[in-house]
Amino acid sequence: MSHTPDLPERYVCESCHAVYAGTVVDSDGETHEFAAPDQCAACGSTAFVPIEQYIYDMKA
Ligand SMILES: [Zn+2]
Repeated sequence: MSHTPDLPERYVCESCHAVYAGTVVDSDGETHEFAAPDQCAACGSTAFVPIEQYIYDMKA
């Protein structure tokens, strides 16, 4: 019985840079996939980037 914490993917709003935890997409009850929110609660944008990509872009 494994008990590995399943950390959610995080997404950054491209417009206002708010950070959201990805919502769990229950694919088959076994694996968890994460998806960006449908819409930013702060600015209404629907454009999100994974936080890894966001950090990479900041360094570039
Ligand atoms: Zn936003």
